[in-house]
Amino acid sequence: MELRNLCAEEDRWRALSSWGPEPPAPPGTSWRALMRRALRLAGRAARMGEVPVGALVVDSEGNVLSSAHNETESLRDPTAHAEVLALRRASAVVGNHRLGGSVLVVTLEPCLMCAGALREARVSGVVFGASDARAGAVCSCLEGLDYARTGGAPWSYGGVEAEDCARLLRAFFRERR
Ligand SMILES: [Zn+2]
Repeated sequence: MELRNLCAEEDRWRALSSWGPEPPAPPGTSWRALMRRALRLAGRAARMGEVPVGALVVDSEGNVLSSAHNETESLRDPTAHAEVLALRRASAVVGNHRLGGSVLVVTLEPCLMCAGALREARVSGVVFGASDARAGAVCSCLEGLDYARTGGAPWSYGGVEAEDCARLLRAFFRERR
């Protein structure tokens, strides 16, 4: 069996909901509200023909430092995932490649590349929506945030507005088939 057939396309994006206690959100906002914002970015990506994933970086005071959506097609750049673009922009805003204290909010469980970038940026946490049964590198396929076992891995919390995040992805790929 080919690896890519291990799970059906429709089952790839999952709205898993068995997460532990919700980490406290920065003052004046909530993970749900931030995820709704990331979802709007993902919707914009879909309209551009980009895989609908949106991300933003929020600091410990609740300021949204940056926002982004996938742009791999428009930029012809395989690394232009929403998470990488959001980290890059947030670093430019704060003038530091370390983003300690900040949290990345993203509509889809990050892939291995993005998990590595999140570690490099030293974000405090990652909040995501839908899980990715084929490429999710936070908990679905591997534990990419924690790979080095050196401590200091960002915390993660998934399942926020996950059904809407997954629905957007399913609809996008259904239309393209
Ligand atoms: Zn990625």
